[in-house]
Amino acid sequence: MTGITILGATGTIGLNTLNVIAQHRHQFKVIALTAHTNVSRLAEQCVKWQPKYAVVSDEAHVDLLHKELKEKGYSADTEILAGVEGLIKVASLPEVHTVMAAIVGSAGLLPTLAAARNGKRLLLANKEALVMSGKLFMQAVQNNYATLLPIDSEHNALFQCMPLNKKNSQAIELDSMGIKQLILTASGGPFRTFTAKQLENVTPEQACKHPNWNMGRKISVDSATMMNKGLEVIEACWLFNTPPDKIKVLLHPQSIIHSMVEYVDGSVLAQLGNPDMRTPIAHALTWPERIQSGVDSLNLAEIAQLHFEDVDMQRFPCLRLAYEAMLAGGTTTAILNAANEVAVQAFLDKQIRFVDIPTVIEQTLTNLTGKDASHLDFILEDDAQAREVAGIEVQRLAIK
Ligand code: NAD
Ligand code: MG
Repeated sequence: MTGITILGATGTIGLNTLNVIAQHRHQFKVIALTAHTNVSRLAEQCVKWQPKYAVVSDEAHVDLLHKELKEKGYSADTEILAGVEGLIKVASLPEVHTVMAAIVGSAGLLPTLAAARNGKRLLLANKEALVMSGKLFMQAVQNNYATLLPIDSEHNALFQCMPLNKKNSQAIELDSMGIKQLILTASGGPFRTFTAKQLENVTPEQACKHPNWNMGRKISVDSATMMNKGLEVIEACWLFNTPPDKIKVLLHPQSIIHSMVEYVDGSVLAQLGNPDMRTPIAHALTWPERIQSGVDSLNLAEIAQLHFEDVDMQRFPCLRLAYEAMLAGGTTTAILNAANEVAVQAFLDKQIRFVDIPTVIEQTLTNLTGKDASHLDFILEDDAQAREVAGIEVQRLAIK
C-alpha cells in the first residue's frame, strides 16, 4: 500500500485525485487530507477515507471539524491539526510515500517544499510553489532524491514525450536529448476571441467559466488572462532545465493535445487525451506503471479537426510579463506571482476590472527589483513586499 497525503484535498485537483484512488483502493492508503476552510467537505472525506490526520487552516476550523465529525457519528482515530505546521508535518511523515501538492497559490509553498526536502514522490499541481522558488525547489528535489512528477496537464504531457533517460534526473540538458523546443499548448481560455474593448467589461463569473476544464477560481482567472500559461512557461523552465526561449506557446482551443516536444530531427511528439485531470493524476500516481483513471477514450473521428493559432500578446500581456520575469531571474518570478495573486483576488472581489490585472502586475514589477533567490527568506520577503505594492496599485485602480 502506498501511503499518500493530499494537500488541498477539497479542491478540484484533490477531488480528482481521490476519484482515481477510489478506483484503486487496494493500492493506496490515505494518510492525510488537508483543507483551508471547507470543513464540511473535509468531514465527508474523513468519513470515507478515515485518514490518520486531517489539517485545516486554524484552530477555529479545528473546532468546527471536530463538531462536524461528531455530528456524523465519526469514531475513527483522526488527529486534527492546524496551520502551516500541520501541513508541513503531514507532507513529511515517514509513512507518507507520495504527496499530492494541490493547494492553490503561495500557501502551498512551505508544505510542498517540505515534501521535496523529505524525499517524497511529489506530484506537483501547485505550480505557484515552483514559480516562487524554482532554483531552491529543484535543489531540494535533487539533494533529497525526491521524485518530482508534474500534474499540470501540459508538463505531464511534456514529461511523457521525453526520452526515458530524462525520467529520473531533473538536471539533464534538453540539448543532450536532441530536443529543439517545448511546445506548450494553451486553450486561450474563455476570452480567446474577445476584442480589447470587450475585455474591459468581463465579469468574474464569465472568467471562471472555462470552455474545456472545470477548475478552481484562481486558476480559472489565470487561464482567462493567460497568466496561467505564463506561470506554466516558468514551471517548464524549472522542471525541464531550460531557458524560456526554448518554450513556445501555441493556442489549441480544444485542449486535446496537451503539449508537444520537438526534436532536432524534425519529429514532434504529442500527448493527447480528453481534457480530464484524472489522466495526468493517474499517470503520476503509479508512474512508470499505468492504471485506469476513469477517463473516456478519445474519439478523434468525432472531434474530426484540431485547431491551432498563435497567441496575441497585445491582448494578453500577462504572458509577456511572465516571460520577462523568468528572463530577469532571481525573486522576480516570486514578485510576479504575488502581484498576480493580489490582482486576481481583487478582480474576483470586484474591486478592479479584468484588464487592470496586468497593470497591477506590471506596476509591481516596475517598482521592485528582484534579488538572489537562493534563500527562502529572500523569496518570502519579496513575496510580502510585492503584495504590499500590488495592494496599493489595486487601491489606485479600484472601481469607484
Ligand atoms: P481549488 O481552488 O479548487 O482548490 C484549492 C485547494 O487548496 C483547496 O483544497 C483549498 O482548501 C486549499 N487551500 C486554498 N487556500 C489555502 C490556504 N491558504 N491554506 C491551505 N490550503 C488552502 O484549486 P485547484 O483548481 O484544485 O488548483 C490547485 C492547484 O493545482 C493550483 O496551484 C492550480 O494552479 C493547480 N492546477 C490545477 C488544475 C485544475 O485543473 N484544477 C490544473 C493544473 C494545475
Ligand atoms: Mg495547465
